[in-house]
Amino acid sequence: MSFSNLLRLLAGSGLLFFAVMPALAQPPRPNLKGEVMVLEFHHMGGHNARWRRSFPSFDRDLQRLWARGYRPVTLRQLTSGTFKLPAGTTPVVLSFDDSLLHQIKFTPAGRLAPDCALAHWIAFSHRHPGFAVRPVFFVNSAYHLAFRQPRFAAAKLRLVIQLGGEIGNHTWVHSNLGRNRKAAEDIGRGQQALEHWLPAGYHMVSFALPYGIFPHPHSLAWRGQWRGAHGRLIRWHYRNVVLVGNGPAPSPYSRRFQAHRIPRIQDYDHVLSHWLSYFHQHPERRFRSDGRRHLVRRFARR
Ligand SMILES: [Zn+2]
Repeated sequence: MSFSNLLRLLAGSGLLFFAVMPALAQPPRPNLKGEVMVLEFHHMGGHNARWRRSFPSFDRDLQRLWARGYRPVTLRQLTSGTFKLPAGTTPVVLSFDDSLLHQIKFTPAGRLAPDCALAHWIAFSHRHPGFAVRPVFFVNSAYHLAFRQPRFAAAKLRLVIQLGGEIGNHTWVHSNLGRNRKAAEDIGRGQQALEHWLPAGYHMVSFALPYGIFPHPHSLAWRGQWRGAHGRLIRWHYRNVVLVGNGPAPSPYSRRFQAHRIPRIQDYDHVLSHWLSYFHQHPERRFRSDGRRHLVRRFARR
């Protein structure tokens, strides 16, 4: 008997309601203490490699995340609890490090070019409006590094904010902060350049450690100051510090969550497949929204 014949038979017998409705009506049970993936990308486009995701693979990643009930939020939203997702879905963060060209590329006329991750994501979300554009870009802001098109740096950052994404500091020149005796300068210069480009009033709350290596003392990664040119004092106070690896992050509602050591998952090769099947095999470990907003009180004000 074909499936449609079966449905017809069940409908005739009045059993259709009982056979189909429970599956449709009941999203998976909420699990606010479950784990969350913070994905991490570097080079985009070209052939897949250790630090590079091709566009067909990226498109497929978005499709798989969408189909399996993952919905994008920024890191700022995740750790402050200021996101509201349909019941049963799971937040996921997609972050991009090192401000590389094919993450956000502009045409010579200053428009978003189609061959970049941001354009691919926007196109995907047009086809799947529930999959919002919420990228997090960790930017190296030395002039020549700013998405490799420095004259468009400010416009690119503005575009990300307008779309609902997030900008975080990744230092000025991507030094090894554990060895750099001027670590505060690399963080502070990065903060200063981004403040210069970002829209007035935009307050960065996230920092990505180059190579995942902490400065000395570690607290310099989230709080510090540096006296720049003309004696200007640059201060930073980030609530989120992300690592380079190496697995899902605890829920921000879990006691295991540490905002200054948020693990990430590098999206290359079969790594995403591995974690998708991990959550499939261990559904109890996966964060599931209950459809409501739950502010993390110590963070929601910032
Ligand atoms: Zn980096």
